[in-house]
Amino acid sequence: MRTIKVKDKDFQLFITAEEIERAVARIADSLNREMAGKNPVYLVILNGAFVFAGDLFKKLDMPCEVSFVKLSSYKGTGSTSCVKELIGLNEILRGRPVVIVEDIIDTGITMDYLLQKVRALEPADLKIAALLFKPEAFVKSFPIDYIGMEIPSDFIVGYGLDYDGYGRNFAEIYKLVK
Ligand code: 5GP
Ligand code: MG
Repeated sequence: MRTIKVKDKDFQLFITAEEIERAVARIADSLNREMAGKNPVYLVILNGAFVFAGDLFKKLDMPCEVSFVKLSSYKGTGSTSCVKELIGLNEILRGRPVVIVEDIIDTGITMDYLLQKVRALEPADLKIAALLFKPEAFVKSFPIDYIGMEIPSDFIVGYGLDYDGYGRNFAEIYKLVK
């Protein structure tokens, strides 16, 4: 089993680049079917979702725009349950179908907060595309429209996801060795 070290912690291979690619393609296929002709804005949550968003965006086959918002709720390997907004939303979303692009939904606290902020801008429609979802950790009830993969509540890095800022550059996803 391939293992890597990120700062002081060991991680083992969990999801291969091929499996990620297939999950991204499934989401893109659904979006291409369901958002065609609707002129959507894809709202990417930085930093974690930048790799997923880049791969997803290249597979989209429709006129669309992309916008970015930066949020953070994690310090180290545990959720702080306290959401911080770092870069604001903009008016491009008003009256448009919006698809929020997120790397992973864990407790759902970050997304719940973001949904409130985005709804205040009155988009015509609001959907969520998340590469990964941890159902065991989820404490909210909003629907997640597009999910790449459901995973257990392990802490993971790679493919945009970090441990204290590092590990985002791996093409695969690794989970913490306990
Ligand atoms: P939530 O608010 O749903 O608990 O957490 C959402 C955010 O926490 C995600 O946007 C993601 O940045 C981060 N996060 C959740 N689970 C993990 C994980 O296993 N690894 C990393 N690196 N970040 C995670
Ligand atoms: Mg994130």
